[in-house]
Amino acid sequence: MKKIYIPFLVLFLLLVSACGQTSGTEKIEKPTIKIGYLPITHAGPLYLDAHLHHGEFENYSIEMVKFGSWPDLMDALNTGRIDGASVLIELAMKAREQGIDLKAIALGHKDGNVMITSKEIEKTEDLVGKTYAIPHKFSTHNLLLNEMMKKDGFTYEDVNVVEMPPAEMPAALAENRIAGYVVAEPFGAHSVVLGHGKVHYHSNEIWPDSYCCVLVLRNDFIQQHEEVTHSFVKQYVESGKRANERGKELFESFATFMQVDEEVLDLSLEWISFAELRIEEEEYNKLSQFMVEMGLSEQPPAYEDFVDHSFIEDVQNVRER
Ligand code: ZN
Repeated sequence: MKKIYIPFLVLFLLLVSACGQTSGTEKIEKPTIKIGYLPITHAGPLYLDAHLHHGEFENYSIEMVKFGSWPDLMDALNTGRIDGASVLIELAMKAREQGIDLKAIALGHKDGNVMITSKEIEKTEDLVGKTYAIPHKFSTHNLLLNEMMKKDGFTYEDVNVVEMPPAEMPAALAENRIAGYVVAEPFGAHSVVLGHGKVHYHSNEIWPDSYCCVLVLRNDFIQQHEEVTHSFVKQYVESGKRANERGKELFESFATFMQVDEEVLDLSLEWISFAELRIEEEEYNKLSQFMVEMGLSEQPPAYEDFVDHSFIEDVQNVRER
């Protein structure tokens, strides 16, 4: 009996594979990479990618998906509604620690955060007992606040720390509801330009080359689209270099993805660097230690488990060849 059925099975398999070949010769649809972001200046290279090429590339398309808050963005990332994001590194590390298979591919930027205070605050001591806002406890901003307090001989507990949506911070400072804040740009520059606040410290005075936002992708996306990921990262690095030149197109791209006054944006961009976006192990480990010290993580993901630098490495190798 079996001998009779085998030829039918073989014929069936041949037909299936023939159909597969037919569709393979047709134009293969290119994948769309859905990238989540918050409208902040820290996602500059991505804005430039999506603006200059209208999100269309040879073997993939980019769709920028805007979110109003970090928890909403993380929820979409963790459940696979988006393939990747420009996100605070601490939030991505926390998700990885909780078992979400994310890979950090490249930095979003370096430096570019400012510690803002009201004009009455002259030194860190004046902040003792006052209210200070951060966007999220899992943020470099929170780590920077801790480092600033330590550097000047105080502790984190000496200020009353509150979490607040970034866009609310400039108004809260102007109305004296808070004495200071640290958050992603352009919200620091906003208070400076309007004259309600001043720069107490630049992040590089407290923690040079601090990491803040990273480009992450879901590992299942990478595994299904390895070639596309290579192309995507190559383009991303090029856009980072171009963003660093602060040309006209960078300002145009910002106008596409966020509403910001040109003077505010100008000042904001003076503080940030989009060059050298490789995630270095030493810096990563330093950040991990800060998180442990503040009780934000018991066991941060190991560099080799969380960071996939093979794509950015590949771009650098191509350049050196
Ligand atoms: Zn950032």
